[in-house]
Amino acid sequence: MTQPVTSTDKAATQAVATATTHSDFTQLGLIPELLETLKLLSYATPTPIQSHMIPAVIAGKDVLGGAKTGSGKTAAFALPIIQKLAKAGPRKAGSQSVSCLVLVPTRELAQQVSDSFMRYSQLIKPNLKTLAVYGGVSTNAQMQSLRGGADIVVATPGRLIDLISSNAIKLDKTQTLVLDEADRMLSLGFTEELNELLAKLPKAKQTLLFSATFPEEVRELTSSLLNDPVEVQLQEQE
Ligand code: ADP
Ligand code: MG
Repeated sequence: MTQPVTSTDKAATQAVATATTHSDFTQLGLIPELLETLKLLSYATPTPIQSHMIPAVIAGKDVLGGAKTGSGKTAAFALPIIQKLAKAGPRKAGSQSVSCLVLVPTRELAQQVSDSFMRYSQLIKPNLKTLAVYGGVSTNAQMQSLRGGADIVVATPGRLIDLISSNAIKLDKTQTLVLDEADRMLSLGFTEELNELLAKLPKAKQTLLFSATFPEEVRELTSSLLNDPVEVQLQEQE
């Protein structure tokens, strides 16, 4: 059973559920470098969330994803984002800007997700610069790494705000935003930080939001942030 949200959400969910499910990575519009990487990693077939989400992200759509850990969600957003960045070509030198920002609730998740981006972008030339930014460790090393900006920054909200305050990072050129585990981010008390960060991002951007559950607070965030999103609700009811 799919997770009930609102009636309009339900209609969109059904539309997604009846859409063609591709059973082969070669049908999703991925570039040869990424198909090669998937072979290296022995990923034989896409998971359902990957087959729905990858073409939508490549098409530039906002996405709302309801999926639990282990569904292949990270690959579902990382692969098409890497493709988008690879196609856009090298970053402009000498800026502190970040092309893609991924916000996550915990340090562990920041490390995991940035590791995934690095693993999936290993054959992309020139290399994409991916950084994990989180609290509990010295800011100095993170400030050093951020010099010249980055293609992908995976961050927890508090430390990111600190780094923005010290001008170590700028969000005004960010084209892609991912909110991973949005429900956990809000329940851990990051609402204010999140709003502060969202206000610093450009209005025109592609946003992907993932959550395992959809309480009122998440639905509010979703409706204020996402523009005509494709919904992928693959969560089994607990
Ligand atoms: P989630 O973010 O939902 O936890 P991940 O994308 O991190 O999912 O994937 C969970 C695990 O499954 C990881 O170890 C990842 O390497 C592996 N994985 C993801 N997609 C595939 C696939 N299509 N085929 C095989 N393994 C996969
Ligand atoms: Mg994961």
